[in-house]
Amino acid sequence: MRRRDFLAAVAGLGGAAILDSARSAGAAEEPAAPARQIPSIAGPDQNTRTSAFKAPAGAVDTHCHIFGPAAEYPFSATRPYTPPEAPLPMFRALHEKIGVERAVIVNATLHGLDNRVVTDAIAQSNGNYRGIANVNGLMSDADLIALDKAGICGCRFAFLKRLGGVGDMAAFRRLVERAAGIGWHVDIYLEPGSVREFSPMLKALPASYVIDHMGTIDAAKGLDDPDFKALLDLQTSDEKCWVKITGLERASAAGPPFHDAIPFAKRLIDNAPDRVLWGTDWPHPNVRIMPNDGDLVDLVPLCAPDPGVQRKLLVTNPERLFRFASS
Ligand SMILES: [Zn+2]
Repeated sequence: MRRRDFLAAVAGLGGAAILDSARSAGAAEEPAAPARQIPSIAGPDQNTRTSAFKAPAGAVDTHCHIFGPAAEYPFSATRPYTPPEAPLPMFRALHEKIGVERAVIVNATLHGLDNRVVTDAIAQSNGNYRGIANVNGLMSDADLIALDKAGICGCRFAFLKRLGGVGDMAAFRRLVERAAGIGWHVDIYLEPGSVREFSPMLKALPASYVIDHMGTIDAAKGLDDPDFKALLDLQTSDEKCWVKITGLERASAAGPPFHDAIPFAKRLIDNAPDRVLWGTDWPHPNVRIMPNDGDLVDLVPLCAPDPGVQRKLLVTNPERLFRFASS
């Protein structure tokens, strides 16, 4: 890894939190930050269509978010964007409409280190929700164990070069060790084209890790893209590697119905059918084209035509990784 990337590597979601909190120890002495323009983003398509494909009983949406309400769960001052609120009742309505009862709520950057929006939803879910938290190095072991007891089973890091210049791989590594110690995995967001660069680091992690959004591939680059091949290699060479089959709408170059992304999803599923997971990514922050979640459900059988593989992808794989009861 080059020095620039090494420095930038933990500057993203969870990583940003590490650094912000480290700085905040001396916050009282610092002058107030200048006012910052925070861009607003679009909310989800609320007219979810009824899908033709029906998910099997026990299916899990392993990547989705809850935003607010801000009055109860304030948005972080350092958030990168401001979305419309997408609170728990809307989240439940979405899953009822798509016929998926279980979910893994990934805490969004905009809630910073406040993971209550996730743990409160888990507490009201009858065992149907789990969560992925934002954490930092200042959290004690007792803090992490409390999150674990509240249904958190992993933490998230984004590796964003554009935030570059501030990061600490040693701090990241220590956090992953602590996460592994309580049986968590880590959720990894990589920028487009960076799987090759991060593969050696990922292989050396002491915990299972999940690559978000199929490694943020670009369907326009084709199946022979070296970075996509590196992702396939990582799947077969490292049993700790899991891949989230999400973000076809992000990978697609052709736009709706996003069919140009299907061959990539299919290849990833066929390559390691026991370590792939599916999710909607509702409410779809920062997408170029807002997808309809009913349409996304209808992509599942096109990516995984075999019912046995569908059951792995949707039910038994997430049960294993996120510690759900077997259905
Ligand atoms: Zn997301």
